[in-house]
Amino acid sequence: MDFNLTEEQSMLITTIREMGEKENFRELAMEVDATGEFPFQLLPMYSEMGLLGLTLSEEYGGGGQSALTAVLAIEELAKYSPMIAGPVFESNVGPIRVVDMFGTPEQKELLVRGVCAGDNSVSVCMTEPEAGSDLTSLSTTLTADGGDYVLNGRKIFITGGGHASHYLVYARYGDIMGYKGIGAVLVEKDTPGFTFGEQEQFMGLRGMPSCDLIFEDVRVPKENVVLKAGEFKNLMLTFDIERCGNAAMCLGVAAGACEEARTYATQREAFGRPICEFQDIQFRVVDMATRLEAARLLVYRAATGAGRGLPSMYEASMAKLFANEMVIDVTNSAALVFGGYGYSKQMPVERMVRDGRAWCVAGGTVQMLRVTVASVLFGRRFDQRKGK
Ligand SMILES: Cc1cc2nc3c(=O)[nH]c(=O)nc-3n(C[C@H](O)[C@H](O)[C@H](O)COP(=O)(O)OP(=O)(O)OC[C@H]3O[C@@H](n4cnc5c(N)ncnc54)[C@H](O)[C@@H]3O)c2cc1C
Repeated sequence: MDFNLTEEQSMLITTIREMGEKENFRELAMEVDATGEFPFQLLPMYSEMGLLGLTLSEEYGGGGQSALTAVLAIEELAKYSPMIAGPVFESNVGPIRVVDMFGTPEQKELLVRGVCAGDNSVSVCMTEPEAGSDLTSLSTTLTADGGDYVLNGRKIFITGGGHASHYLVYARYGDIMGYKGIGAVLVEKDTPGFTFGEQEQFMGLRGMPSCDLIFEDVRVPKENVVLKAGEFKNLMLTFDIERCGNAAMCLGVAAGACEEARTYATQREAFGRPICEFQDIQFRVVDMATRLEAARLLVYRAATGAGRGLPSMYEASMAKLFANEMVIDVTNSAALVFGGYGYSKQMPVERMVRDGRAWCVAGGTVQMLRVTVASVLFGRRFDQRKGK
């Protein structure tokens, strides 16, 4: 597989690096973590640079570029912080891709254009208090009513909750059981009956808006239907692209931690020598870099295979699985290079350890990814429900 970057992709990386230096993203990342304030001020600049909606349809204002280009941009920005990469993640691999692929022309005109301009954002709303990994047990319902629908239920851990302009809500049509009853509708913020819970307090990703969503008799016009009952498979297909984006966040956080550790090892002295002269430190940094490069190959393979479409479920799941575990190991190892400072908020690596832990749960746990990969390796589906 050819991983040579195009001239355009190399230029994009250079431009992002220059922006990171100029705008002092290293400092901004520390600030966002300390204040818990998401850097919304970046949106107009990202939009102007074409970073929002790189992969979305050109017909509606998107960049029409490949999944790999988006992965490269997310990785580069996540070296500073996942918060700084957040808008590029959401606008390229998030639920807007579902709208771009399966939405009506009217939905695309409003949302794809709005997302590229930085005016709109879309959150994906799947998880419920009693349905996370077991998504097909979800109980949020859409009841037909006079040609429209009425939505009732509760969602939890929704990234962008309270801030996004639109919410792609996975819900069950009527009383159709199992995955066959699940589809998705768009709900606008400020729709009567739609309210938000308290901001979630996570271990890391400080600044990321996240909260519960509560739907009480929310009227959803039929024009807001994105996927009807029975189209759950399409939702899951588009989820593979989000897995690549999630894995790209891991590459970025791990690369940031590797660089912090390598630099510190050349500056810090012990026993009268820079600590990089101790073999344990060298080998630690070598192992970190090796695991990062291995993850990169898996993620780039999945993204390259996707082209301008969707990646294979097998490649995307394996890439996310490996990258999710890699970033935890690499950030932990980087913190050890810093000694006591690795446990102090004075150094970015402490934040990287916390931020690195989110990805093995967000977008599906590593255990569930193993279940998915097992189904491909064994050529059969393993029903996770208690024996019938
Ligand atoms: C930072 C972050 C951001 C998130 N953003 C969103 C978002 O924007 N939208 C959204 O809808 N959700 C979001 N989530 C929720 C996330 O998708 C769920 O937390 C995740 O899918 C796991 O569901 P759960 O928490 O209910 O865990 P559970 O499903 O209760 O799982 C608990 C444990 O049991 C394991 N387990 C369950 N079933 C099996 C099995 N069959 N085999 C082996 N192990 C199993 C799980 O792997 C896990 O370790 C986010 C979560 C986090 C942490």
